[in-house]
Amino acid sequence: MIQVTSLIGTMQSVGDEPRMPVVDPATAGEIGSVPTGSAEDVDRAVRIASEAFPAWSGASVHERAAVLHALADVIDANRDDLAGLESRDQGKPFSLARDLEIPRAAANLRFFADAIRHDDGDLFDLGSQGINYTLRRPRGVAGCISPWNLPLYLFTWKIAPALATGNTVVAKPSEVTPLSAHRFSELAASAGLPPGVLNVVHGRGETVGARIVEHPDIPTITFTGGTSTGEWIARTAGPMFKRTSLELGGKNAIIVCQDADLESAMPTIVRACFQNQGEICTCGSRLLVHRDRLKAFMARFLETVEALKVGDPLDEETDLGPLVSAGHRDKVEAAIARAVEEGGTIACGGTRPSVLPDRVRDGFFVEPTVIMGLDQSSDTNQEEIFGPVVTVQGFDTHGEAVTRANANGYGLACSIWTRDLDRAHRMAARVESGMTWVNAWMLRDLRTPFGGMKRSGVGREGGVEALRFFTEARSITIAHSGS
Ligand code: NAD
Repeated sequence: MIQVTSLIGTMQSVGDEPRMPVVDPATAGEIGSVPTGSAEDVDRAVRIASEAFPAWSGASVHERAAVLHALADVIDANRDDLAGLESRDQGKPFSLARDLEIPRAAANLRFFADAIRHDDGDLFDLGSQGINYTLRRPRGVAGCISPWNLPLYLFTWKIAPALATGNTVVAKPSEVTPLSAHRFSELAASAGLPPGVLNVVHGRGETVGARIVEHPDIPTITFTGGTSTGEWIARTAGPMFKRTSLELGGKNAIIVCQDADLESAMPTIVRACFQNQGEICTCGSRLLVHRDRLKAFMARFLETVEALKVGDPLDEETDLGPLVSAGHRDKVEAAIARAVEEGGTIACGGTRPSVLPDRVRDGFFVEPTVIMGLDQSSDTNQEEIFGPVVTVQGFDTHGEAVTRANANGYGLACSIWTRDLDRAHRMAARVESGMTWVNAWMLRDLRTPFGGMKRSGVGREGGVEALRFFTEARSITIAHSGS
């Protein structure tokens, strides 16, 4: 059993505080416990982070970069251990965590370590009048709140730029998947991270998370999670003039144009729908397919989806593990039932797998599910499900496809499949989406802006956007003395 502890200052705070269970979604068995945390824990963490701020923000970029590189190195050195924890905590295939997500967590730290060493400043020559330059200073204690779907990847995606730019951090991982952040905290302390610079407080959103948002000495909040939580954070942090970055839900369209190369597209489209059981904010959940290609597309698509292996996440052959919790599985099943009520036809999946290996027979599995015959205005095509469920609609013109892609409150990600370059540019410019891929999905480079529009959030992460977010620009103008 793993006893998760909060890391506040130098202390891994253990104890007899109230705890809640950590459940392996593949087996439904309890594998550890996490503290429920309190507002007082956050207050203590903020005090300690504030005390650590002068030294950390005053360190040179090279010193901070060296620490971040050391943190990345310990992630690499403990890759299999961390991947195992993520898989048991979240349900994702172990191979996905080992080969993609844990290496990306290390890459986040290295990217921002290098970014600060190469960041340059602004200087404006005012001619004979003088010069102006901009100092960018860390903003103080940053509050970093992350969700359960990509636990260590999104945790490091937030703390890396915050720490690199000289802020100290109070971070709250999801209480549903605390294990990898806990292990990372233990490793961070041994990798030379100065005490008090990173404080990880475990606990529930409505207590620990809410206190981070409401704490008067945390001027910067970066949040990734659900849209309704984001609304509450915006309402609370706004009047306090906090700077917030909100990365929220999505209902992403995948547009398959008349001229798409179906054969080469299919593996990526299926991955875009079902990777990590569809529990990735950028996963596509609305497939819009040109009617001339609909029959051919469906034949290949269903064949590929039905061949996906749902099962034990520790098995190397597994494509989809269980959903993250029993509660989330119930929510996804309710969404499938609603789709049927609305007149949808289940083309494949829609149920729990009938056969599962013994070890995982009590897990929270749902088959990859494809639903047809629903209007764009249906609840199923409007609301985020965040599971292995996609709908398919046909369209007659590419203009109609864009209109339908946009007929949704969210605007996070979109992918367009076409061989026509001119069409790709025209459609990508019209789609209301923070991120659009053409003939790709999740082709990521950490320099590019990441984030959504509309109900998918406010602000952008990644590259320069993140460096700016965590710093305050101070414009300084020096007049030349007359000569
Ligand atoms: P959630 O909003 O329930 O929780 C996210 C985090 O916020 C957790 O750590 C939680 O404890 C905390 N929290 C909950 N209530 C809070 C409050 N009142 N104040 C402060 N913190 C609070 O979301 P989730 O269920 O963990 O994650 C799934 C959602 O995240 C989905 O909607 C998904 O689309 C979204 N997501 C978005 C992105 C993106 O980059 N846009 C990435 C991943 C996930």
